[in-house]
Amino acid sequence: MKTVTLTGGQEMPVLGLGTWKMFEGSAYAAVKSAIELGYRHIDCAWIYDNEADVGKALHDCFKQKIVSRDDLFITTKLWNDRHRPEHVAAALKEQLVDLQLNYVDMYLIHWPVAHQFGHPRPESGTDFESLVDVPLNDTWNAVIECQNAGLCRNIGVSNFSQSKIDDLTAATGVKPSCLQVESHPYFKQSQLLDYCDKNDIAFVAYCPLGSGDRPEQMKGLNEPKLFDCQALKEIADAHSITTAQVMLSWAVNRGSIPIPKSANAQRQKENLESAQIELNESEMNAIADINVEHRFVDGTFWELEGGPYTAASIWL
Ligand code: NDP
Repeated sequence: MKTVTLTGGQEMPVLGLGTWKMFEGSAYAAVKSAIELGYRHIDCAWIYDNEADVGKALHDCFKQKIVSRDDLFITTKLWNDRHRPEHVAAALKEQLVDLQLNYVDMYLIHWPVAHQFGHPRPESGTDFESLVDVPLNDTWNAVIECQNAGLCRNIGVSNFSQSKIDDLTAATGVKPSCLQVESHPYFKQSQLLDYCDKNDIAFVAYCPLGSGDRPEQMKGLNEPKLFDCQALKEIADAHSITTAQVMLSWAVNRGSIPIPKSANAQRQKENLESAQIELNESEMNAIADINVEHRFVDGTFWELEGGPYTAASIWL
């Protein structure tokens, strides 16, 4: 597996396994089969509610000597109700217990959104805290302390805009080494990718296949379907590969790091193989020319009446 070198010198594999929506014990088998197939980069989060399952799979992979800890790159994320600086290290330590690890390779602030402590899934506007009361810079300084304490090797952010990253860096003097955001042929984020390239920030692409298994309440009416895209299908036919492989190889070829989720070993294998597929310039250009702009994870779920967040303020 090819890698990119992070600012701290560590190598991050250019394709990883997403673990969101691996419910009811399926994360154990999915993570284990992925590692057996050759995945070396796993993307986790507290809110996926399966880190203990992931931890069991990692433990068994180490015990059975399928891989050693040093072979793996494990990312996880700080959830929104733990943004106050006094909660950050405790949150990560709890996650490490579930993951059965001494450290993670990457720790990300999951969203530029803060909740009241103990309210992981807000039900009303009062379950949030504003970024004036819980500034991102304070949370970031606490994440930096986690890195200094050896709880995480690298630190970054997710769902942050360029201006939020610039503000964070200017205020603390520490630039994130990774940005994780939605990116796929219908939402390329080319400007943000370019910014990350220029600033040595690894750009991790979530929902690289369009996240078709998102909960129904997160889906809009008449959403465009990536798997129906004619331009992608034509490239797939030309290479005798699948449409999913076109999306993932495009992502790797343009320098982003896709983290497709699959709980199915055959599709995991197909996705992993995409990291080796080269698309030519005209194919890359044909995808660049796809004229659809659609964000699947649009942030409107943070807009609760009386709360301090709007989707527009999040992406600003
Ligand atoms: P993806 O774009 O990875 O799509 C997942 C869906 O595609 C599943 O239904 C999966 O089904 C299906 N699929 C996977 N491989 C194939 C294939 N080869 N052919 C056809 N269908 C396929 O969506 P996610 O939303 O899961 O995004 C990926 C990861 O990104 C998440 O799991 C999570 O780790 C991360 N993420 C981070 C966010 C953030 O805020 N930082 C937000 C959203 C996601 P099946 O499992 O049955 O194969």
